[in-house]
Order: sequence, then structure tokens, then C-alpha cells
Amino acid sequence: MIDRFEIERKLGRVLSREFQSELDKLMGYLGDPPDLNNVPRSYWQNGWKRIQNQVEPILVDTFVQSALELPLVGITIDWDLINADAVNWARTSLVPTLQKMFDKTYVGVNELVPRYFEEQWSRADLARHLEKYYSPVRAEMIAITETTRAKVEGERAAVAEINQRGVILVPTWMTQEDERVCPICGPRHKQRITVDYPPAHPRCRCYVDYDYPKEGN
Ligand SMILES: [Zn+2]
Repeated sequence: MIDRFEIERKLGRVLSREFQSELDKLMGYLGDPPDLNNVPRSYWQNGWKRIQNQVEPILVDTFVQSALELPLVGITIDWDLINADAVNWARTSLVPTLQKMFDKTYVGVNELVPRYFEEQWSRADLARHLEKYYSPVRAEMIAITETTRAKVEGERAAVAEINQRGVILVPTWMTQEDERVCPICGPRHKQRITVDYPPAHPRCRCYVDYDYPKEGN
């Protein structure tokens, strides 16, 4: 059985480590005294690629393992296809999240560098103010959400294969105990899924149950 909490921890560790090194890198770019013009434009556009490369193998693995764990009811599915799906999916899945994070950091740096001068900060002060953009809390949040997404998308890839062979599985939204009170996910608990799948929000740990056709139908 894949252990989602183990995957969350692993992803969280990798992201925390990468965030810390991004903060160091950004401070290095800014220079002393800090100047936003010193940061290459390319950094804001695709500096996140390094993080993406580090998390990709974990996401691929989670996707494939989740697909493998789905009961196949005697149906043979094409695992090369599932593996290819996993690789394609993992290549882009985290990009919007990381791009947004870099965009927010860019806005933050624009506000913080003038304050460095106005409020006569040290470089350590500036680094401390920048830390919130690279915090372990953010790393954990992304780790939880992306673990949910990898699991759900891996299963969906396998389900799509099964459906194609004429066995139609019905997806149901399931919340974890601690999410039953979530205003977004709570009302979806045990409801049939028609369009949107988990995660529904950052830190969403919901999952999907699939109903298999009854014997003899
Ligand atoms: Zn949820």
C-alpha cells in the first residue's frame, strides 16, 4: 500500500530544502546592497524549473503506484501508457503552483527592497522578511496538495483505461475524517464526481472511491 503521509513527508523535505536554497540564491543575486535589477529576468520566468526537476520523480512514482493499486477486475491495462501518462503529467503538474510562487516572491521583493533602505535593515533582516515566501509551511502545503493530486490523477489514468474496455467505474468524492468539516469538501463527501476531482483547495487530502459494476450487470 502506498502511504500518502510518507509521500507528503518526502515531498515536504525536498521542497523545504529547495526553497531554502532558492532563498540563498535570491539573496546572492540581489547583492549587497540589494538591487532588484541584479536578479536576471530569466530567474523570475523559469527559476522554478530546478525545484520542478527535484519533485518530478516523486510525483511520477506516486502516480504510477496509485494506478497500480486500483483493482483491475481482470482487465489488462497498458502499463507503458500509464508510465507515459505519469511522465507527461508530472512534467507540468506543479508548474502553475511554482510559477505563482515565484510571481508572488517577485512582488514581495519589489516591496521589501525599498523597505531595506527606508527602515535601514541588515541583509539578515531582508532575508528574514523573504523567508515567508520560502517557508516550511508553504513546502508542507504544496506537498499535501500535490500528493493528493498525484494519487487522484494516477488512479484516473488507470480508470480511463478500464473504462475504455467497457467497464465503467463510478467515482465518488471521499473526505478524510479531518476534512469532513471543510466547507468546500464536506458537502461533497460521498457524492458522485461529475467534473472536478480532488484536490479542491490547498491542503486538500480528499480521495476518490470507485464503484465497480455489480457482477452479472
Ligand atoms: Zn478536500
